[in-house]
Amino acid sequence: MLGGDSLPVLIVVIDGLSDRPVNGKTPLSVANTPNLDKMAEMGINGIMDTIAPGIRPGSDTSHLALLGYDPFKYYTGRGPIEAAGVGIEVKPGDIAFRVNFATVEGEGSIFDKTVVDRRAGRIQDTEELIKAIRENVKLPVEFLIEKGTGHRAALVLRGEGLSHEITDTDPKEVGKKVKQCKALSEDAAWTAEIVNEFMQKAHEVLENHPMNAEREKKGLPKANALLLRGAGVMPHIPSFEEKFGLKLAVIAATALIKGVGSIVGGDIITPEGATGNRNTDIGAKIRAAKEAIEKYDVVLLHFKATDELGHDKDFEGKKEFIERLDRHISELLGINIAKNCLIITADHSTPVKVGEHTADPVPVVILHEDVRTDEVRKFSEFEAYKGGLCRIRGMDLLNIALDLLNIAKKFGA
Ligand code: ZN
Ligand code: ZN
Repeated sequence: MLGGDSLPVLIVVIDGLSDRPVNGKTPLSVANTPNLDKMAEMGINGIMDTIAPGIRPGSDTSHLALLGYDPFKYYTGRGPIEAAGVGIEVKPGDIAFRVNFATVEGEGSIFDKTVVDRRAGRIQDTEELIKAIRENVKLPVEFLIEKGTGHRAALVLRGEGLSHEITDTDPKEVGKKVKQCKALSEDAAWTAEIVNEFMQKAHEVLENHPMNAEREKKGLPKANALLLRGAGVMPHIPSFEEKFGLKLAVIAATALIKGVGSIVGGDIITPEGATGNRNTDIGAKIRAAKEAIEKYDVVLLHFKATDELGHDKDFEGKKEFIERLDRHISELLGINIAKNCLIITADHSTPVKVGEHTADPVPVVILHEDVRTDEVRKFSEFEAYKGGLCRIRGMDLLNIALDLLNIAKKFGA
């Protein structure tokens, strides 16, 4: 706790871990996971609806819930979270967008031109282009733009009287013209005008940038337009410290998860080698988590690859990643559960059968010396529900941990 002895909670979130059965089996149920199974034996088990039964969670909304925030109250779209995730200090009232560098062709203004590549040949090195936009585009309001991974970026508009009730400029398909931004409410007309001005000015800067002349010479698609989508307003959200009086760290490599950690005021740790995909350095992340619990009260450690492999409908790949994770997770068995509370869970299911997030509840196990252990001996979708935790909501998870650690406040007399 702040100013006192730390009683840390470590929450390991294995993104999209759980599945629906394929011939009666799931990647998690058939994976060889002696360490996760040991944890199931040592802890109290259950299943969890990260948001609510039947609600298909996004990774952003579910992570808000796992950190104790009601996503129905605080979630205003992906834009602000992505922007925070790439390092923009997003403030309440800011309008944030997800951005793609793209290739457009044709004559006239940006809105007369046709998108021929939505990722500008999956361009990586956009730093110079972003710098040129920062220096040369002038708008009636302040704007911030930051590079994301690959062809991605984030844009924030800051000023009085802005609205997020506007449409995307990304047509989301090649062969279509760049879309004009339109206001969805009367109040938003001025914002739409500013967005369209930004679109044209950014296009002019990019079209004339020497880097694009170079790319053209090499036969690469020019990164000569920015496509915007997912406008959202940054909500007023109490920080984790204000809400719980606790210090939070989020260990992740995925912008969206880093963004959730950032908007609630947590510290973000991305150890070297952490990539947010299947080649990530699992050991480095686990070591970072073990260090972080010495300094923070609540640490959320995120692994992304299971979700990706679920989207790819890759049963074997998902099983193998879970097994690899299990070998490294053995290091967490050394954590002192008299002092710490260790939780292993997921943010939602990403069944290989579906290739998308589903609302099927996720398994959860809580380890602490004071939990009432149960008869569950294997960490899997088919066993977890037999545990003493039964079925809980994502928003309850942190409360349960804080209660175990005797730092929860009493409700009533
Ligand atoms: Zn997820
Ligand atoms: Zn996903």
